[in-house]
Amino acid sequence: MNLDVKCNVKNCKYWADGDQCVADSIYVIGPHGSRQADSVEETACRTFELRE
Ligand code: SF4
Repeated sequence: MNLDVKCNVKNCKYWADGDQCVADSIYVIGPHGSRQADSVEETACRTFELRE
């Protein structure tokens, strides 16, 4: 992706060396469909796919 996205989730199929996300885009969601988060821990990458 054009934006430099760092990620440390090594078992995602879009993860690459140097903690780079190589997905074309990512979609980040809040908890339970609320569209709001009160902390970092409540945000999640919806683009995550388990590396086989
Ligand atoms: S898609 Fe999400 S979880 Fe996967 S490497 Fe990119 S930012 Fe991390």
